[in-house]
Amino acid sequence: MRNDNIDINRKKSLIRSDELDKIAIGDIESKSQVRVGFSEFSKKIYANTKNKILEELNSTEDDWNNPKWQMKNRITTADEISKYTNLSKEDYENIEKVSEKYRFAITPYYFSLIDFNNPNCPVKLQSFPDIKELDKSGMLDPMNEEQSNPSGRITRRYPNKLIINVTNACPMYCRHCQRRRLIGKFDKHTPKGDIAESIEFIKNTNTIREVLVTGGDALLLSNNQLENIFYELSQINHVEVIRVGTRVLATLPFRIDSELAVLLRKYKVNVSTQFNHACEVTPEAVRAIDMLVDNGILIRNQMVLLHNVNDDKYGIQKTNEELQKYRVIPYYLFHPKEVKGIKHFNVDISKGLEIMKHLEGRTSGMCKPTYVYNSPGGLGKIPLVPMQNIECEEDCYRLTTWENKTVRQRFK
Ligand code: SF4
Repeated sequence: MRNDNIDINRKKSLIRSDELDKIAIGDIESKSQVRVGFSEFSKKIYANTKNKILEELNSTEDDWNNPKWQMKNRITTADEISKYTNLSKEDYENIEKVSEKYRFAITPYYFSLIDFNNPNCPVKLQSFPDIKELDKSGMLDPMNEEQSNPSGRITRRYPNKLIINVTNACPMYCRHCQRRRLIGKFDKHTPKGDIAESIEFIKNTNTIREVLVTGGDALLLSNNQLENIFYELSQINHVEVIRVGTRVLATLPFRIDSELAVLLRKYKVNVSTQFNHACEVTPEAVRAIDMLVDNGILIRNQMVLLHNVNDDKYGIQKTNEELQKYRVIPYYLFHPKEVKGIKHFNVDISKGLEIMKHLEGRTSGMCKPTYVYNSPGGLGKIPLVPMQNIECEEDCYRLTTWENKTVRQRFK
């Protein structure tokens, strides 16, 4: 009798396993269409453009790996772009026109990830000025950061955590940036006096347990400048956690070296970063990730949902799985904000919910970010979950599984 039961259980398990295989095979096929940074195709694109740039600038491999060289040789004009790819007259003029209002800068490294044969290349869309940026709708400061600034360069929106903005500079100016109003005409680190005032405010506000040091990109400060800030914060008893906000892992991975990794380890700093597409997860990015993670530093990814860049369920699944593979925790999927000049990146909330619904069950919980909407006016984040998952009946909740099967849980 017992053997009969084992046989029945095994038979049912195999039928279920076959069913799951069919779903997995379909998913693997769809994910294989997504461009990843480790593919031979991506490596070829990178090597071609990198060699062209090194030749044009009469520079060496050592130069390329030097973050200072990368910053000094950022691509900032339509003329420079034209040296490496054909720009139509219209594209050339549009880039010039947009960059008068919103400047652009792209590190040679990030520029070399662009697939110029794909008009919707996610790297290009995030870094090239687009004429649609001149659309006048949206707000300059939808998060009302200017009115959440109680001191120095602080932004405070929550009871026990806050932000210090330490610079307006970034290696690459993301075209979807929510803080594009701060980019201005020049790169400028926050003056020492403003940082001291911000730290003084934190010292005097004992409800603050977590401080996010960001910008701009916090890791554009020198190690000395960073250490001064971390040291001051570490001396405040009620500050339990220091976090930095940076996109260098995606845009300037050469900035991560062992000295910086040791510094972040010394102050137990957490890192928040932003990868928006699997093609940004390159061997160079993973070298930098490894250096941090091997030093015990936690890295969490804050992806932004962007039309044509990643508003595709398999693209998002693949990106998060790549990140998990290399020990970066998918943390948030941000719904894009109503910022002036980025309307063309906007998507409807239903799209984000559809993506989240797709991720249920089809990928590990560890590669599933929380989808959040940032309320205008600085009112904070609202997690968004697929609505069809839970409904109330007379005496129970009706719950829907990832395969759209129904289960019920009685009220307690
Ligand atoms: S790295 Fe962050 S702050 Fe800098 S441009 Fe991109 S989104 Fe904006």
